[in-house]
Amino acid sequence: MKYDVLVIGAGAAGCMAAGTAAENGKKVLLLERNDRIGRKVMITGKGRCNVTNACSLLNELIENVPVNGRFLYGAFSRFMPFDTMDFFEGLGVPLKIERGNRVFPESDKAVDIVDALQRYLTQNGVRREKARIVRFHTDGKHILSAEDENGRIYEANRYILATGGKSYPLTGSTGDGYDLASQCGHTITELKPALVPLETSNDWTGELQGLTLKNVSITVRDNDSYKEVYSDFGEMLFTHFGVSGPVILSASSHMSHMREGKYTIEIDLKPALREEKLDARILRDFSQNANKSIANGLSALLPHRLIPVIVSLSGIPTDLKVNQITKDMRRELVYLLKHLPVTISGFRPIEEAIVTSGGVSVKEINPKTMQSTLCGNLYFAGEVMDVDAYTGGFNLQIAFSTGYLAGKSVSE
Ligand SMILES: Cc1cc2nc3c(=O)[nH]c(=O)nc-3n(C[C@H](O)[C@H](O)[C@H](O)COP(=O)(O)OP(=O)(O)OC[C@H]3O[C@@H](n4cnc5c(N)ncnc54)[C@H](O)[C@@H]3O)c2cc1C
Repeated sequence: MKYDVLVIGAGAAGCMAAGTAAENGKKVLLLERNDRIGRKVMITGKGRCNVTNACSLLNELIENVPVNGRFLYGAFSRFMPFDTMDFFEGLGVPLKIERGNRVFPESDKAVDIVDALQRYLTQNGVRREKARIVRFHTDGKHILSAEDENGRIYEANRYILATGGKSYPLTGSTGDGYDLASQCGHTITELKPALVPLETSNDWTGELQGLTLKNVSITVRDNDSYKEVYSDFGEMLFTHFGVSGPVILSASSHMSHMREGKYTIEIDLKPALREEKLDARILRDFSQNANKSIANGLSALLPHRLIPVIVSLSGIPTDLKVNQITKDMRRELVYLLKHLPVTISGFRPIEEAIVTSGGVSVKEINPKTMQSTLCGNLYFAGEVMDVDAYTGGFNLQIAFSTGYLAGKSVSE
């Protein structure tokens, strides 16, 4: 059977594109390699799905897309975050807005978002089949058909490629779309991890594996220019390879030309206390533990596992009693607690990144329609394109906006 539209990939972007085209009267086939739709959506926002960001200004939205944000002007203006919110609430998913305008389902369950997408597909009569597309047959200017890994051929008038990036491959996004787009002559820009945990060259970070620090400030310094490139406040954690957690993932987006030693992150373990206040607090704690070890003196101030690391980095002999610690030693300790330095040695691999940076070059895509400028009946939606955003719901918004625009465009 020949369809009006074939959508490849049933993630956030593909579901939105397929449903929109079908709602506009097209006969749509949605092909997904997994049994279920939206496997990546299921793990978004730690299973809660930060579905969009309730920012109402187009410019603000674009500012949160550091890579090719202007390219998305058309897609965002046709489908803004409030449209995403209306869309899901209209499908029976009540939403709530949290810190930083992050929007979540009221239930805190990503599965509600996936179920809503499934309802949207069903309501509009989208046909879905399980297939992994591996090849396009073209005449040089148009796609004639798509072939799956078992040699089965699918024909349609128009094709939407929504296969996602290369990150978290267990969800089905293994980067097939890059190869498929290249088969149609498209350029793929360098693929890099974005929003990714960081490896460190300090031995002590591994010793702290599993320790989460909830209310810390971090400052990222570029050691070549001695400039501060990013600062943030929030939660981070130590892992066997280095550091991760929300503030670290966000920081990674601000680290270009990564190489070992280029960046240092300074952690302020006590951002609520200025140095004098922190010193006074330590003095008070020390006076209550005058004859005890420094570890005892710090036990009320720091998480238990962090104490030996801080003592070792401070250079204060561990066998010294608290009442033997000099003012200078204390001053250095305070400095360390406010500027704990972590040397970054690199990004974790792309497979562990929240988003893949790079992809189908946006220079070869019409921003008003998401149509390929090289291959007449090919359209793109979502992360397969060279666009990526900061955390906060912006990446899913890209998927929904571009999916909507591609779905509309194939219907016009
Ligand atoms: C752990 C994690 C948490 C995240 N949390 C958030 C968050 O809270 N908020 C946010 O905005 N963003 C978040 N993101 C990013 C967001 O999930 C993605 O940017 C978004 O899902 C991209 O949508 P997409 O439809 O383009 O691609 P995907 O969601 O990756 O969907 C692509 C689909 O295509 C299918 N596919 C691939 N190749 C083929 C093929 N050859 N044939 C058929 N089907 C194929 C895949 O199986 C997949 O289902 C998170 C990402 C991760 C990894």
